[in-house]
This record gives sequence, structure tokens and C-alpha cells, in this order.
Amino acid sequence: TSASIALIDPSTGDSLGSVPALDRDELDAALSETLAAQRAWRTTSLAERSELLRNVARMLRDEVEDHATLISREMGKPVTEARAEVLKCATTCDFYADHAEEFLSPKAVETEAATSFVAYEPLGVVLAVMPWNFPYWQVIRFAAPTLTAGNGGLLKHASNVTGSALAIESLFERAGYPKGLLRTLVLADHSLVNEIIADVRVAAVTLTGSEKAGASVAEAAGRALKKTVLELGGSDPFVILADADIAAVTPLAVRARFVNTGQSCLCAKRFIVEGDVIDRFEAGLKTAVEALKIGEPLDDATQIGPLAKPSFIDDIDRQVQESIAMGARLVTGGYRIDGPGNYYAPTVLADVTPDMPVFREETFGPVLALVRADSPAHAIELADDSQYGLAASVWTADMQAGIDLGLGIESGALFVNGVVVSDPRLPFGGVKLSGYGRELSVEGIREFTNVRSVWAG
Ligand code: NDP
Repeated sequence: TSASIALIDPSTGDSLGSVPALDRDELDAALSETLAAQRAWRTTSLAERSELLRNVARMLRDEVEDHATLISREMGKPVTEARAEVLKCATTCDFYADHAEEFLSPKAVETEAATSFVAYEPLGVVLAVMPWNFPYWQVIRFAAPTLTAGNGGLLKHASNVTGSALAIESLFERAGYPKGLLRTLVLADHSLVNEIIADVRVAAVTLTGSEKAGASVAEAAGRALKKTVLELGGSDPFVILADADIAAVTPLAVRARFVNTGQSCLCAKRFIVEGDVIDRFEAGLKTAVEALKIGEPLDDATQIGPLAKPSFIDDIDRQVQESIAMGARLVTGGYRIDGPGNYYAPTVLADVTPDMPVFREETFGPVLALVRADSPAHAIELADDSQYGLAASVWTADMQAGIDLGLGIESGALFVNGVVVSDPRLPFGGVKLSGYGRELSVEGIREFTNVRSVWAG
């Protein structure tokens, strides 16, 4: 009688089968199993934990085709991007294996004591509520550091990527992790998340997703006084100053916006261009965007796939049509592609102003907004005029000016003359409605630790 999750191929609308959800008893048993696994795991050495991470990395590389195919089937990203996602997961596992000692071994601190130090101890079992847009990366970015710090993990993945969630659980088990240490919870409904957060067996929670989901999880965690890390939406500005090399920037701009068919928190969404070079940029953009190859996710030539869920077509089209009604000029695209699957034409809107939905709201699809600025200062002001603060990029011939100006945009990351990407060596996270806390790097691995001071005289 238990419920099940129906999986749908976003490129055809066909069924991919269904997976039974846990009933109450199974959920209860899963929480106990993960807690028991964590209690033992916390006594293992960093060397042991690092060795298992290396196993995961090796297996991801050996099995890249299988994992990439699963990702593309379930959520529709072009398979070349799915492969890159899996390989980036492997790199990140190796990164934490290489740095676990450096990041987590106790640090001596000089005080009046005979000895004093800071230790980084696990918090316990951490619940991860994760989205479908990078079904492997989002989970590995959480699990690699969090488990290596001695914690256990409960994964509540987005229901449309349940197959990926189960494959990741199996991957860790096959790599030699204790059974249940990283446990996928297939839930009939995400409303069960609040109960799981309140459960004494859960110590903390991390979520990547929408503000709505983030606020709900943070509210439940607040009531239970449990730590949260939230990685929410973004509307990253891509600021092009008049002295930038427009021909060189154009293909990078296309990549920054249309990667993952535009469904990334880190995609550049508002392209703010200083002065008259905007006309040249727009012309080059139109050509490049119209040349993007739309197709089936599993075809190596595909650059634009379907959106992950049918409702995302309605959301993005509403943002486009409302913006056009408010005066935006359609350069290309702007329509749903007929036929099966959730395909939307790659779209460029020009003459965008801050009151329009494509500027104000996060656009989670293949829609690029072009905004004209009168001066560098005006460009920065427009870039900063957002409720989001995930990342920003600035493009200019004068790198130092780019840094100085770019720091005027409130954000968790600033890239000058580079497309924003997450990198295990650099902390990742946002300010404002983009969330709080950090993932990756040393900051990320310490988020779910008890930073303990020890003083002995
Ligand atoms: P959601 O935020 O709804 O989903 C992300 C995860 O949160 C999923 O696992 C989902 O579970 C879960 N979730 C949703 N609501 C709750 C809740 N109230 N309590 C607990 N868990 C919850 O994203 P959508 O897929 O609906 O996408 C909507 C928008 O969110 C996008 O258009 C985009 O703007 C933003 N988004 C941002 C992402 C990012 O990388 N920052 C990633 C994905 C989306 P379930 O699948 O069962 O609903």
C-alpha cells in the first residue's frame, strides 16, 4: 500500500518506471541504521576515510558512461555535460582525500595553557535536501566533505532524480563505506522532511534548491535548533565593460548562460553591457545562440536539452512574455518548441530593465537578458540591484579595475574575466536570498563539524 515515485523522461514525457517510497517503519529503521553507522564511523582515521573517497573517485571514472546516461535520462542534460559532471565529482573526492588531514587535524593555538588546540569533530547525521539540476554533483559536494569529517548522511534527493539518488547510495556502499552511512530516503512527499529534521537522530541539515524550500527547511531546523547551510537561487550578473574584447567574450557568455540548458544557480542571467558595444555583442550573441544545437540528451552533439519538468516551461515562458509586455525586445527564441518533451527555444531578450521578471526573478532556463548601462558605475549599480547574491563576473581589459568595481557587487563570489564555476579549492555559497554557509574548500568541510577548543594547564 505504500506510495511510489513515478519517473518521467523529460525529453519524451515517457515513463521511466517508478520507485517505491519508504513507509514509516522503513524510514524509522533507516534513521537508526545511519546513526549507528555514524557512531562507528566517527572513530575511523582520516586516512581510512580518505582511502574510501579515492575508491569513489576511481569508480566514478571507471563507470562514467553509466552514471552520465542515468543523469541525462532522468533530468535531460546533454550527455557531454553529464560526463563532465561525473568527472568533476571524482576530482572533488580526490581533492578532499588529499586535504583531509590538512583541513581536519587539530590546530595548535598558543595561549597561557600548557597545551591548547582546536579540534574538528563530527556533528552526527546530516540531512541533505538536494535538487535535480546536477544530480551527482550536488550530492558529492555535500557527501565527500561531510562524510570525511566523520558524519553520516541522509539524502532526500529531488524526486525526479530518484534513480540517481539510489545509484549514488550504491556507489558509496560498493566503494566500501559502512552500510547506511550515506542513506537515500525515497520519500512519498517532501512534507516528511520537517519530521526528519525534528528527529533527535538528525544533527543538522543542508539544502540546495529554491528559496521556498530553503525557508521551509530553515524554519523546521530553527524550531529544532539545528544548524543549516542553504544554497538557494541566483541571478548572477555578467558585466561587460566597454573596453572588453567582445568577440572573445561572446562564446563565453553563451556558455555561462546556456550550460545545463540554463538550469543552474550559477548561470549568468543578467548581461549588463556598458555603452554602445552592446549592439555588437547582441549581434554576435544572436548568431551564436541560434547556432546552439537543440536535441536529445543522449546525443553527443546536443547542446540544449529539455527542461527537467513540464512546469518549468510555463514558468520561463511567463517570465519571457511578461517582460516583453513590459518593453523587452525579443532578439531570438521566446517560444515552447512543439512536440514531446519539455523543450524551450534558446532566447535572448534585449532592452531589459530592472522592473521586468527576467531581471527581478531567477530565470531557470535558456533565457538571456541584455541590459544597457551608461557607465562602469551604472553597470555595477544594476548588477547589485538584485535580491540574490550568489556570484558575479566582470569582463574588462583592465583586470585591477574589474576587481575594484566587481567588489561593489554584493556576492559570494566574484570572477573577473572568467566564467563563474564552482571549484573544490574555493568556497562556494551566497549572501542575501542566495543563502548562507559555504560548501567546498576548507570552509565547506568545517561547516558540519563541532569546532572544539581544548585547553589544558
Ligand atoms: P525545489 O526547491 O522545490 O526542490 C529542491 C529540493 O527541495 C528537492 O529535493 C525537493 O523535493 C525539496 N523540497 C521542495 N520543497 C520542500 C519543502 N517544503 N520541504 C522540504 N523539501 C522540499 O526546486 P524545484 O525543483 O521545484 O525548482 C523550482 C525552482 O527552484 C527553480 O526554478 C529554481 O529557481 C530553483 N532551484 C534552484 C536550484 C539551485 O541550484 N540553487 C536547484 C533547483 C531549483 P521534491 O523533489 O520531492 O519536491
